[in-house]
Amino acid sequence: MQPFHNRVTDLFGIDYPIIQAGMIWASGWRLASAVSNAGGLGIIGSGSMYPDVLREHIIKCKAATNKPFAVNVPMLYPDIDKHIQIIREEKVPIVFTSAGNPKTWTNSLKEHGIKVVHVVSSSKFARKAEEAGCDAVVAEGFEAGGHNGREETTSMVLIPAVVKAVKIPVIAAGGIYDGRSMLAAMVLGAAGVQMGTRFVASEEASSHDKFKEAVMHANEGDTMLMMKKLTPVRLLKNKFFEEIQNAELRGAGTDELKTILGRARAKKGMFEGDLDEGELEIGQCSALLNNILPAAAIVHQIWSEFNIALKQPLTRN
Ligand code: NDP
Repeated sequence: MQPFHNRVTDLFGIDYPIIQAGMIWASGWRLASAVSNAGGLGIIGSGSMYPDVLREHIIKCKAATNKPFAVNVPMLYPDIDKHIQIIREEKVPIVFTSAGNPKTWTNSLKEHGIKVVHVVSSSKFARKAEEAGCDAVVAEGFEAGGHNGREETTSMVLIPAVVKAVKIPVIAAGGIYDGRSMLAAMVLGAAGVQMGTRFVASEEASSHDKFKEAVMHANEGDTMLMMKKLTPVRLLKNKFFEEIQNAELRGAGTDELKTILGRARAKKGMFEGDLDEGELEIGQCSALLNNILPAAAIVHQIWSEFNIALKQPLTRN
């Protein structure tokens, strides 16, 4: 397939504007390098990695691909300074930051020649990311899995709003899982797409097989945005979800919610495969997925579907 050129492929030096989201417990070096080798941009999700683990994943990723790859850094991470230092030392070319103020790290990363992209859920935060000097933004809509914005703006509204608000390239995320949804996002003005849920359902994702199977069985309405009083997160419904939902319905405060949440729930669910007690973060488009594929096949299939959809007359709909 012919490489494609636009602002996102040129910024990252990749063949197709297809980006795999950096997800805790799912995206290590295997997934990131497979996506990058296939012509997309693979991202290591550092939020679930201790600093020495992150370094190991970066080193393995560099050995597995000579293509560009990125690291996602959630700013809530407790040892963020150590992660940033490792990213600089290991000369990671691209960083995606999320869940925090883009001013904090953008300048110092850029001084080291690193391209910086920030994940936002509103045009207000997109403008802040642009002012902070970011090279691009990810506009992540309400449909997305995991951490999400409080305002519930869907991708259909968020993408054009962010495209209008900033001059830097906009990468769309939330509800995108195939070539047609990718085309829809690009028609709304995005210059690329980031997909998480689609890549959880890949052979290389480090998520537990039981979690991947649960994702395959998800139907419409099976995920919901929870814990707005703490950090809003879209979860797949299970026993833990119901505990949180019941507490929220009876008006539980942040302390009670924190107690119910406890520690390492995400690891328990997504990495250890405890489908009852664990936290299962996944996007709405899980309802539309029905196969677990190698990451390279996902990239190639989406790019081929995108090109077919681009030529399809709408009178056929
Ligand atoms: P918890 O506080 O419940 O647990 C911490 C988890 O992170 C444990 O499983 C722990 O592994 C692991 N961990 C990795 N590095 C460290 C460290 N330096 N200090 C302590 N624990 C560490 O947090 P969560 O599991 O809810 O979230 C962990 C991180 O992931 C946070 O930074 C959060 O912001 C981020 N996150 C990002 C998301 C995204 O969308 N990008 C979504 C959800 C969370 P172990 O059990 O082996 O000790």
